[in-house]
Amino acid sequence: MASLLSLSPSPLLSTLRPCLSPVKTPFLHPVRKNPSRKDHQKVQSTKFSSFLDLEPKSKPEPLDFDIPWFNTADRARFDVIVIGAGPAGLRLAEQVSGRGIKVCCLDPSPLSMWPNNYGVWVDEFESLGLEDCLDKTWPMTCIYINDQKTKYLDRAYGRVSRKDLKFKLLSDCTANGVKFHKAKVWKVEHEEFESSIVCDDGTELKASLIVDASGFTSSFIEYDKPRNVGYQIAHGILAEVDSHPFDLDKMVLMDWRDSHLGNEPYLRANNSKLPTFLYVMPFDSNLVFLEETSLVSRPVLPYMEVKKRMVARLRHLGIRVRTVIEDEKCLIPMGGPLPKIPQSVMAIGGNSGIVHPSTGYTVAQTMAVAPFLAETIAECLGSTRMIRGTPLYHRAWNGLWPVERRLSREFYNFGMETLLKLDLNGTRRFFDAFFELNPHYWQGFLSSRLSLGELLLLGVSLFGKASNPSKLDMVRKCPVPLVKMAGNLALEAI
Ligand SMILES: Cc1cc2nc3c(=O)[nH]c(=O)nc-3n(C[C@H](O)[C@H](O)[C@H](O)COP(=O)(O)OP(=O)(O)OC[C@H]3O[C@@H](n4cnc5c(N)ncnc54)[C@H](O)[C@@H]3O)c2cc1C
Repeated sequence: MASLLSLSPSPLLSTLRPCLSPVKTPFLHPVRKNPSRKDHQKVQSTKFSSFLDLEPKSKPEPLDFDIPWFNTADRARFDVIVIGAGPAGLRLAEQVSGRGIKVCCLDPSPLSMWPNNYGVWVDEFESLGLEDCLDKTWPMTCIYINDQKTKYLDRAYGRVSRKDLKFKLLSDCTANGVKFHKAKVWKVEHEEFESSIVCDDGTELKASLIVDASGFTSSFIEYDKPRNVGYQIAHGILAEVDSHPFDLDKMVLMDWRDSHLGNEPYLRANNSKLPTFLYVMPFDSNLVFLEETSLVSRPVLPYMEVKKRMVARLRHLGIRVRTVIEDEKCLIPMGGPLPKIPQSVMAIGGNSGIVHPSTGYTVAQTMAVAPFLAETIAECLGSTRMIRGTPLYHRAWNGLWPVERRLSREFYNFGMETLLKLDLNGTRRFFDAFFELNPHYWQGFLSSRLSLGELLLLGVSLFGKASNPSKLDMVRKCPVPLVKMAGNLALEAI
């Protein structure tokens, strides 16, 4: 719709707060996307012409930082090789090298800005001493259960400054002597006490331990059970808008309202079965991050469907997008079995099972577990204990996934399997009850910090708080996931 497109220069962009790093560059000339013929047909056939036609203005610049590069004339032997310089790879490299271990980190573009917009609970980053790496915080969060009911949560939320976090991790890595190599790893090979990698530029490096931190699409990690993952899919934009209706002191964790689909019978019917919500970070009255999100679906909800719902929602909310500064496609595999434990490559981050099976959150948990994994690695590789080969990988995998954490993860998987079975009304009733729980439980659940005992208490308490229709939902829809969880718990406990 032409009315959603404004081609006028934006005075706002020149006055953006300096803390909002991704929007520092002035983007004064919104440009319409030049869609391919195929895209054009798609847009015309759906009558949804909108902000989707706007080209994102931000062209993230690589960090201007002097990192120590691996010199091919140097000895190509390290204690640990980390594949990937995403949040997980750099955090682990920082933590392992801080314990005196020789690390090399490889990535096709180690200094590029990370592409995703990350949100975390403020207390999670505070407890790790990383609060300086948040560029915006909201003292409260809120959830629109439906048009009549909004819940306000007394828990602060923050947006991660990708630039500050990456800068901090790179600085620590540099101070600790980590070497970087700009290349893509193609192959990993193993001998009894040593592993090696081959890169796309022909470089070969050797190490006692290879850690794969290459994200969800990794091809180096093996599974010994069928991967029945669920998927979170979302379309997000950081946008300059004429106005928006959200309070500036509250981050909107989930907006489950569906009144925007009143004139869209097809979308409404689908949304009632496979719901999506809006996630909102309001930065100021004209700058906002908006993300239409399918919490979890299997098979994955089509991306175009998510975008169409977002167009209808923004139109209903009266949000006119002037400029898309950044956009992101979020596709997160969630739940399913853990990777094979142990195996001859260690993993951390998106490919290691750390992703929260019910929410898709990963960053804070990765930051939190990396020091524990690093400690285990240092115990094995440090000067006093020379543990190598299979026992090393065994210790590392069990350091990341001790039995207690594997058992808890089964409960989080159960949460995901339950959510997969709920329609819009069931989901609304579920969250209505969930956020009535004692904050220790709902906060602990969302931050993956409850023990199995606490999680079982949470389950009982949730049933107690649930409305009668919600109890009925649980009784009708939970037995299969419950039996599956009990079976997996029994297998893990043996
Ligand atoms: C759009 C989006 C939004 C998200 N938002 C949130 C959020 O708000 N909060 C949250 O907690 N989680 C969020 N997540 C989930 C998760 O935190 C992110 O996916 C996070 O980036 C995972 O970090 P990672 O380091 O494991 O992987 P990645 O960030 O994917 O980093 C992997 C790195 O490895 C490199 N690499 C890949 N293959 C190779 C290779 N063969 N050799 C060398 N290097 C390689 C890549 O170039 C990349 O730099 C989001 C995910 C997405 C996709």
